[in-house]
Amino acid sequence: MSESERPIHVVGGGIAGLVAAITAAEGGAPVVLHEAGGRLGGRAVGSAERPWVNLGPHVVFTDGALVRWLRQQRIDVSMRGPMVRGLRMLDDRGTQFPIRQAVQLLPTVLRREAPVDETFGAWAGNAFGEATADLLCRLGGLITYHHDPGALSARFMWERYRRSFLSADRVRWISGGWLSLVDALAARARTLGVHIELDDRVMPQTLPDAPTVIATKLSAAARVLDRGLSWPGARTALLDVATTSDRGWPAVIADVRSDLATCCMIERETAVDPDALGGKGGHLIQAQLGVAPDVGVAEGVARIEDGLDVGFPGWRDAIGWRRAQIVVDATGAVDPPGTTWRDRPSVVQGDDLFLAGDAVAAPGFLSEVSVNSAVDAARRALNARRGRAFAPGWPTVELTPERRLAVLAAVLPAASLNTTTAASADDVEPVDETGPGYRVEQRAGVTTATSITADDGGVRITRLASSRLPGIARAAVERLPVWRRPFRR
Ligand SMILES: Cc1cc2nc3c(=O)[nH]c(=O)nc-3n(C[C@H](O)[C@H](O)[C@H](O)COP(=O)(O)OP(=O)(O)OC[C@H]3O[C@@H](n4cnc5c(N)ncnc54)[C@H](O)[C@@H]3O)c2cc1C
Repeated sequence: MSESERPIHVVGGGIAGLVAAITAAEGGAPVVLHEAGGRLGGRAVGSAERPWVNLGPHVVFTDGALVRWLRQQRIDVSMRGPMVRGLRMLDDRGTQFPIRQAVQLLPTVLRREAPVDETFGAWAGNAFGEATADLLCRLGGLITYHHDPGALSARFMWERYRRSFLSADRVRWISGGWLSLVDALAARARTLGVHIELDDRVMPQTLPDAPTVIATKLSAAARVLDRGLSWPGARTALLDVATTSDRGWPAVIADVRSDLATCCMIERETAVDPDALGGKGGHLIQAQLGVAPDVGVAEGVARIEDGLDVGFPGWRDAIGWRRAQIVVDATGAVDPPGTTWRDRPSVVQGDDLFLAGDAVAAPGFLSEVSVNSAVDAARRALNARRGRAFAPGWPTVELTPERRLAVLAAVLPAASLNTTTAASADDVEPVDETGPGYRVEQRAGVTTATSITADDGGVRITRLASSRLPGIARAAVERLPVWRRPFRR
């Protein structure tokens, strides 16, 4: 086999592996995807016996990497907004529509910069007062599945809180659960000729000598690469119950009672195929609670059930099927004080090996990290493959977004390029790195394209501006309808 026929290998067939495989195949490489299990999907489907029952709620954001990448790829996945009227908050006074909490959280609407180094609890206490900070920290459980969100980095939590609570109109549930997403990705991969090997666990000794994307959990990647790779995650108790009746229960209950430093989320938004539950009920209730390292399944699940007893009266009499478990490091990375996503294990691992997944150095929220890192890893693997096939031994010049803007500035008429430095990239922190790597905006007839580069030299913001940029203007016009296309509900 000649170098140019050699494939890129992708290890892991979850969201990250499928996105990496599609990106590499679209880049013109033959691709082999190795999945250890008997079906594709990884954590997005959770279990081979009941793939329709998500491991958790699995919401996506219309401004995030996953949804935008799907739109760019024209992969059709049907989504719907949350049932806001069915939302309830369970606090020490009982269950109610969360009007009082909404009023309490009003001051959080104002933009502020949260520090990386401080804990969210301490920072929020100073910024909003103890009572509001307590509520904010508990609500953080909904977006991190962590037992103590107040102990995490203020910036990490604040950014996630603002995206999910203050832009709730961008939240979507995937109709039919994440299995439909996985099926759509798998269909695209197959159409592009990706060779999929199931029941094929890659070990250090079977690691191919070729550009390879390792798209597994970090612990599995550490075993495959035989090196230390780790980052903090959450430990989460999960209870899934299929009930034989629906007694007019709420759609979502956020249990923020004061015995917890976090929140227990109970929801029944995830679509499910009743046949997949073996005729044992067609209504699925799912609950997640971040638990400390010393809490066992029985204790964690008992606390979840206590919330169900209050919010879903009669649920015990309607149980058709149930599943209880604790998952570890399964809900994505959490950044402790003093760290950001840039400090996590790098996508680039040397020797043409690249990491993708939800705990590596890429921006975004939960699975968005998998998507951003998968696109990045696949592009780098394509580059490495080109280097091996056509220019062995040559140094590769990486056309970073910053360099792309410099090239555009040189060739486009009346373009100005301006680079400034910043103490932090917080204001312009990217959530989607699957596009060209710079953000295009048009205001008052001026088109700007902005890239942010953070490296050892600090944070550089490079801005290309012009009132006459035909290429970028066209790109912006093409991209905007993609972002703004209305979603099916
Ligand atoms: C309770 C819960 C709730 C969640 N809620 C949300 C949410 O609301 N929104 C959201 O965006 N995300 C959510 N997530 C996170 C989301 O599920 C994950 O980020 C995403 O599924 C991770 O995909 P991945 O491909 O990176 O990893 P995985 O899905 O873990 O895929 C890795 C794959 O690699 C395979 N593998 C492992 N070792 C090997 C090997 N040696 N050789 C070959 N294959 C191997 C595994 O079998 C697996 O299929 C949630 C997760 C949980 C558990």
